[in-house]
Amino acid sequence: MSPRPDYSGIRATVMGLGSFGGGVAAARFLAAQGARVSVTDLRDKSQLLDSLHALQNCPIEQLVTGQHPEELFRDCQLLIVNPAVPPGNPLVELARTQGAEISTEINLFLRHQPGRLIAVSGSNGKSTTSALTATLLQHSFPDVNTFLGGNIGGSLLEELHRIQPDDFVVLELSSFQLHRIDVSFFHPQAAVLTGFSPNHLDWHGSLTDYRTAKQKLFGSACRDSCGIVPAETEADFSPRHDWRIRGRKHVFGLQDTGEDGAFLQSGMLLLRTAAGRREDTCRLQIPRTLPGAHNAGNIAAACCAAWLCEADPAGFENALRGFAPLPHRLQKTAACNGIEFWDDSKATTPAAAAAALKLFSGRAIVIAGGASKGVDPEPLAAAIRTHAKSAVLIGESASVLQRLLNADHHKQRAACQIASDFESGFRMAVESATSGDIVLLSPGCASYDWFRDYRHRGEVFCKLVSEWIESQ
Ligand code: ADP
Repeated sequence: MSPRPDYSGIRATVMGLGSFGGGVAAARFLAAQGARVSVTDLRDKSQLLDSLHALQNCPIEQLVTGQHPEELFRDCQLLIVNPAVPPGNPLVELARTQGAEISTEINLFLRHQPGRLIAVSGSNGKSTTSALTATLLQHSFPDVNTFLGGNIGGSLLEELHRIQPDDFVVLELSSFQLHRIDVSFFHPQAAVLTGFSPNHLDWHGSLTDYRTAKQKLFGSACRDSCGIVPAETEADFSPRHDWRIRGRKHVFGLQDTGEDGAFLQSGMLLLRTAAGRREDTCRLQIPRTLPGAHNAGNIAAACCAAWLCEADPAGFENALRGFAPLPHRLQKTAACNGIEFWDDSKATTPAAAAAALKLFSGRAIVIAGGASKGVDPEPLAAAIRTHAKSAVLIGESASVLQRLLNADHHKQRAACQIASDFESGFRMAVESATSGDIVLLSPGCASYDWFRDYRHRGEVFCKLVSEWIESQ
């Protein structure tokens, strides 16, 4: 272990205060350690009210909103970069060439946290699988604490003082966070990749660079740690053999491949490992608490991770029984006149929307579209053509999707219409629904063209659902 760095008196800049808690936590942590902290964000004060409020009693030297003043980058010794800042940002490069250490809130946490780490990443299913893993560990080890954090929200830096060496830390990591991860402090006991398909290509620049970031999940594992990868990757964008895993490889899926790992078939989970001298298999019943085949995969992955951390599988059934979908992830929100309403606003990739559409094959009137993140929209159009009853298209990608859905060379077609705003889109969907249909918000795209974030989009949807039901 390298010595704890002494932050007292160093000039630190937090680039991108943000509104998810990481910037606030990094600023507070460094200020509490005696650093001279400056904070900047390109957004103006009105968009950062909660974060600014959280910094009220924190000794910040300079707090600049609406711009990134160059001097805060030229003069700093430590730069904490917000995950949203893309590679090659000129101000980050300026700080680097002036000799500053470039770091992130996650790296600060990893450097100081003493607990047993389980890392979870993947193109879809990170939050669900992280939360499932934490639930299984909490249930199995009631005498130690299990902390859940990272990209799922908030910051575990605020919890550092509570984390003991025996505690578990389940950390969800996005590709942005992995891109800048400091592998010298990143030694997960188990690392789970939930799946790999194109995402965030506008940020990474290419699928190869996106994959390189994800590979870092396994990069610094020690030999007795575990890398857990999907047996079937979505459309095989990166087969499991392509991932370099230094520790023990386990796979998860819905059919037993004969390898070490976890396989969930018809509600029965098979766990198998030949780790070290321990040869073990185990079969157990798993309750169907989450909808869809993709969630069965997430459950298998989480059970595998928890089991390899010595959790007792005898308790898995009970632990999972009460697990409900996380907000805005394939959640049934209401039913009225025989029509069901499902909020899947967090489906921000074609693969995530495809997972929902497959589940409701032929019954869903899907509200889809938004900001594409540089990802090819054809797989989203293909999923709509194959599985949706009809589609209402929203946001920046609406006309591209309409063109793809109407392309002459496809045998299958899904009726579609473009909405000029979200409220009229909702109305179009609900007015075309009849008893037995499902009105599904599963956009397959990011929300920031029309909304603050996916939560905002989901909340607006739920409000429109409630208003419509009241009017019936
Ligand atoms: P992430 O944190 O990676 O965004 P979430 O668990 O929050 O993942 O789920 C986001 C969306 O992806 C939801 O629409 C969910 O139904 C879908 N999803 C979850 N797991 C998977 C998976 N393994 N494959 C495809 N889609 C998934």
